[in-house]
Amino acid sequence: MPQALLLRTTFALLLTGAFFAAKPQLEPPKLDISKVKENLYVIEGDGGNTGVYITGDGVILTDVKFPRDVEIILEKVKSVTDQKVRYVYNTHHHGDHSGGNEKLLAQGVEILLHENARRNIVEKKQPGAPRIAFADRSELWLGGKHVQARHFGRSHTNGDAVVYYPELKTIQTGDMFVRQAPVIDYSAGGSAIEWTKTIDQVLALDFDTVIPGHGPVSTRADLIKWRKDFETMRDRMSTLSKKYATVDEAMAQFRLEDYGWASNPALFKRFEGLYSEMKGR
Ligand SMILES: [Zn+2]
Repeated sequence: MPQALLLRTTFALLLTGAFFAAKPQLEPPKLDISKVKENLYVIEGDGGNTGVYITGDGVILTDVKFPRDVEIILEKVKSVTDQKVRYVYNTHHHGDHSGGNEKLLAQGVEILLHENARRNIVEKKQPGAPRIAFADRSELWLGGKHVQARHFGRSHTNGDAVVYYPELKTIQTGDMFVRQAPVIDYSAGGSAIEWTKTIDQVLALDFDTVIPGHGPVSTRADLIKWRKDFETMRDRMSTLSKKYATVDEAMAQFRLEDYGWASNPALFKRFEGLYSEMKGR
């Protein structure tokens, strides 16, 4: 298959797969590590962004991509510190963020996530269910560093957590904020109506830097703008859902490009769920 077609096909699979499964790949994934702030790095490529926080007594990772990425993630960590990985946060259950769990649990690493995210892993029969879940808040003190994980309600799923590095005024959002069109996972309790309320609570935290679920490291202003675009898109669908009796008629009038987001057929199809949510509002 030509590379462009392969990429297009696998991207579609990634978006339509209920389990956000790994796309087939012939070569080892290419990951890049870069510094965000003192002692905080991000590993980009193949799946969701991975946060790497170096403390005086071990490393805390947030999100661990697919199973095939684990060894490469650990190599990248080794390139910036001698400390071992001790804890992992999952921002939510999707396999492009939690796929590394199984291998890391087997190495004795402790993984934490919101209780709904853990339930989603179990119910969707994904491997690597963590041993520890939290309700609306978790706090971790390790080697002189402090990390919080906060659940503010539904957005991308019903189990999204924002990881907060208070000393660095930095948050890591998982797919509650991505540098592309949102995916509202209705199969896991996602909600467009709740989403903006959830982001509004996130904005009450003191931060200037954001590691999104996918895409480059961003600013607080980028998150505020994306939230605004999300709201405009959602309100447009709300209007269409009242104007048109069928989803097909409404979708014919709906363009993701209007909000500055690239569209593709698989992603676009997911917005049928948004039509239903807004119609039933
Ligand atoms: Zn996701």
